[in-house]
Amino acid sequence: MADFKDYRMKEAKCPRCGRVMDGATNCTGDGAPSAGDFTVCFYCATILRFGFALQLEMPARADFEELMRQPPETLLTLGKIQHLVRARARERAGRN
Ligand SMILES: [Zn+2]
Repeated sequence: MADFKDYRMKEAKCPRCGRVMDGATNCTGDGAPSAGDFTVCFYCATILRFGFALQLEMPARADFEELMRQPPETLLTLGKIQHLVRARARERAGRN
């Protein structure tokens, strides 16, 4: 896999699971997270979107419609990340 670039960011809470994240990894380029970017929660694998102040938001129906109009690689990448996050969660659960 390519080298992904990690970014520190202001703490943001996942609206789904409530966990707080203070970093993000860009899996499709090398820019820092910006408003409107799609992302995946590191803990619950929910697809989220960065808001204007880089807070995490649940995507609205219109956001998903926009996602469907993007190149298929975008959705494919989000799906791969969800898979990795879930595999990591299963691995951690198995260790307890
Ligand atoms: Zn979450």
